[in-house]
Amino acid sequence: MKTKALTSMQSAVDIVLSSPHPDNKVAASLFNETTTLSQTNFWPQIILDKLGTAIRIGDSSGTVHAEVNCLLHFPEKTQGAEIAITDPCCPNCAKNISESGIKTVYIDHKGFQKDFAARRGEEFKNMSLNILAHAGISIYEINRKEQSVSVIHEPEKDYVPAEDNPIEILPRLDLTIPTKDDLKKLIQSVTVKHPFWGCALAVNDDGKIFSLIASTHTAIGFLEEDFTNQQKTEIHPYPQNPEKKYNYHLTPLNRLLFGATRHNLHLIDGMVWTSLIPNARELVNFVGAGFSKLNIGEKKPYAKESALEGLLTLENSGIIEVTTL
Ligand SMILES: [Zn+2]
Repeated sequence: MKTKALTSMQSAVDIVLSSPHPDNKVAASLFNETTTLSQTNFWPQIILDKLGTAIRIGDSSGTVHAEVNCLLHFPEKTQGAEIAITDPCCPNCAKNISESGIKTVYIDHKGFQKDFAARRGEEFKNMSLNILAHAGISIYEINRKEQSVSVIHEPEKDYVPAEDNPIEILPRLDLTIPTKDDLKKLIQSVTVKHPFWGCALAVNDDGKIFSLIASTHTAIGFLEEDFTNQQKTEIHPYPQNPEKKYNYHLTPLNRLLFGATRHNLHLIDGMVWTSLIPNARELVNFVGAGFSKLNIGEKKPYAKESALEGLLTLENSGIIEVTTL
């Protein structure tokens, strides 16, 4: 896929200046053998209309990252696809890329030279690379001028990432047009629960219904017990430390969003539920995917108060309609 990687990276570079972000212009191309989707980071239109670009949503900006924009809008399953990014990806995108089943990540060599990369370099080296590598993803640097692809990381032969709590996805032959009652029954049917978990109903391109269940968990390839390791917790403490922007865990809404894209399932608006309030970054991704209705078990944050602030900002401006269920 070397040629396709080079042309896909060029497609990302070709649109990067069209990013509406004034400082951090980033683009990515998600591709498989037959399909390529190139996107920049962006503000979802409804956030622009109702809040503008300056308002913070909890501890998040209102922008959706380029990588996430690609994952959420790719017209096919993301499992096994590849992504070319103009810049080193942030740890949140790395987690979402791993949850989506992406097998290869390419970073443009010029991305490592920008101010943005200098500021973000440690996060990329300490966390993003670690997250992608644990998921068994191959990582390459692309030099477009030299038309070369060099290895940053390749998994060991036969490496199989630990995945002890995968998202559960089941076909629902009993459902054709799901209702709130069906969602309630799904919530009630789940017995093993992390306090922060979620479920949803989704549809595939053939109109078949699926249920998805996911709880908070470390990114693919990490085990919970990895996080008793003092060295890791010192760098990026868990449970989430409000002073630290990133951690190694995926919370339910992102797992549902990217577990769905992995299999080209489409979550149904109004049929997504989380036990507690998703973090602000997840809520922005949710809006960026085009959703406007969220069901929540208890209207309280899991770890960060900023989640509640983010939810209230989106709810009060009419961007997300929240139902307690
Ligand atoms: Zn990112």
